[in-house]
Amino acid sequence: MVAQNACDMGVDAYFVGGMVRDILMGIEIKDIDILIEGSAIDFVQKLSECAPNVMIKSVHKAFNTAKTVINGLEIDFASTREEIYPQSGCLPVIQKTGCPVCCDLKRRDFTVNAIAVRFFTGKNELKYELIDPFNGSDDIKARSLRVLHNKSYIDDPTRILRGLDFKLRFGFNFSENDKKLIEEHLKSPDREGLSIDRIKLTLKKLFSDKNAKKAYNQILENNFYKIWCDIPSFKHEWAQRLDEASSIFNVLKEEIFLKAIFENELYSDFLIQNHTENFEIYNQYKNLKPLDLALHYAIFNDANVIFYFQKLKDIKLDISGDDLIQQGFSQGKALGDELSRLLKEKLNSIERN
Ligand code: ATP
Ligand code: MG
Repeated sequence: MVAQNACDMGVDAYFVGGMVRDILMGIEIKDIDILIEGSAIDFVQKLSECAPNVMIKSVHKAFNTAKTVINGLEIDFASTREEIYPQSGCLPVIQKTGCPVCCDLKRRDFTVNAIAVRFFTGKNELKYELIDPFNGSDDIKARSLRVLHNKSYIDDPTRILRGLDFKLRFGFNFSENDKKLIEEHLKSPDREGLSIDRIKLTLKKLFSDKNAKKAYNQILENNFYKIWCDIPSFKHEWAQRLDEASSIFNVLKEEIFLKAIFENELYSDFLIQNHTENFEIYNQYKNLKPLDLALHYAIFNDANVIFYFQKLKDIKLDISGDDLIQQGFSQGKALGDELSRLLKEKLNSIERN
């Protein structure tokens, strides 16, 4: 249907990016991206006019992209585009949309992601043509990560983190030239126009995977933190506990790792108190959210915080203020003190194991 519409409109349509890489690697694809050598928005509008099973979810005019659901499947459409980077690390500026597919492939990160597959109808059957101007399919076989030009990591240092993601997920390795380019960039990174939000977004994806701990360690071991700072305030020794904390405190891995990296100073004034009474432990943590508890545990290796979360946090009194009033207490301090005493008694009776 998409191929027929492309044929009717006289535009070329391609599968592109990670989807093509994953197909060539023989692994399950994550998302379907279709590139239109023309206007993606015009394309999906025409498509939805002729086919009731095409739903346009959203369009992004500035990028000329569209998100659709076709037969229940989410499919993203993008127009081919050329981009430039006015400054290192900032967001790229679109120069032109609807350009030839090879110009679009040039803006991509690695050769393995710069492959397109044109699909078209011929003699009533679907045909495919591989467009691989940078020999990405050879690099897929060799599991090698190569950027398309020597300024690539300077233009967009998040590509270093994307490369780490592909390394950990698929066993790719940076090529020797890429290792040198990364080392060069990290020696004197120009951070003036750096988009920290883009870095966080890339890290979020990296940490949402089961390899979060490895990614965190490699960012420290390979000096990748130099992309955004000179000296890291986050520590190697937290890695294992950050990883465990996700299941203990039921919070997302990416949230814990990102907070440990960018907001650890929020915890720097925290005083570890060697409370022995459950009631004191309860009071120490009762106003903290699970994410903060997780960070406390990871940063300070504080076992009390796990005990609090698992055994104390949901403890409630079986008796209310009204019940005490009925028993003869009058409103005021004495009532508050009695409730507090009862809670203390109940909390202190909880066994650690
Ligand atoms: P994944 O399996 O994680 O989705 P992916 O390669 O599809 O991998 P996406 O973030 O979905 O990653 O990006 C889709 C495509 O867009 C990439 O394959 C690549 O061609 C291009 N791309 C994404 N981010 C960048 C970037 N920072 N620089 C250049 N090209 C990029
Ligand atoms: Mg993808």
